[in-house]
Amino acid sequence: MSSAILILSGPSGAGKSTIIHAAAERIGEFYFSISSTSRTPRKGEQNGRDYHFVSKEAFERGIEAGEFLEYAVVHGNYYGTSLKPVYEALKAGKLVIFDIDVQGFHLAKERMGDMITSAFILPPSLTALEQRLHGRSTDDPKVIAQRIQNAKREILEIGAYDFVIINDDIARAAESFVAVANAARLKWGSKEREKFVKQWLSS
Ligand code: ADP
Ligand code: 5GP
Repeated sequence: MSSAILILSGPSGAGKSTIIHAAAERIGEFYFSISSTSRTPRKGEQNGRDYHFVSKEAFERGIEAGEFLEYAVVHGNYYGTSLKPVYEALKAGKLVIFDIDVQGFHLAKERMGDMITSAFILPPSLTALEQRLHGRSTDDPKVIAQRIQNAKREILEIGAYDFVIINDDIARAAESFVAVANAARLKWGSKEREKFVKQWLSS
């Protein structure tokens, strides 16, 4: 299978993790990029599984050392994607899935352009988003209010994404996600096209 990059964005609480989990066995070998963050872990989150939880200072040292493919400040905390594991997974022919915010998506696009397939995931309404964030019981009301405000800004960037998945019914959303993951694998970046054209012309 060919390697590919699939970026997922959408409000916190849209159901990105739920959808990846529901589709995991149907999308071939993939690597989920584990981000680093300076936010504190939520109840049930594990270091190294959900995020690499680091201090603000350690994150800033990582920035200075050029360790991040992209990073952004979201809800007042640093979040970033480390370069090394992503390149290793791509070399191994895996589909690399990122769950990053819209700022990170734009930065990754600048660096990796047409290699990227992207999807924006949304719950069916703002009310549903609020209910899910409360239902998840992992954030206090102030943090939830901040995430709702951020969602209202993030949705304005929806036009920059290749696909939109409305997560109303989990099974249906997972099915759409499988289609998007397959599309990501089929997409060729300009380097792949150029290489193929050269080979084809001399074949
Ligand atoms: P994200 O990864 O985007 O922050 P989660 O996957 O953690 O979101 O989902 C947020 C909450 O919404 C979780 O409690 C999850 O069980 C719930 N949820 C996800 N998808 C649906 C859905 N289609 N209908 C109802 N609840 C959902
Ligand atoms: P949460 O705190 O709910 O886990 O994530 C908050 C937001 O940060 C989500 O929109 C999520 O997509 C984004 N995020 C998670 N990891 C990264 C990352 O590595 N880079 C960027 N730019 N955003 C991230």
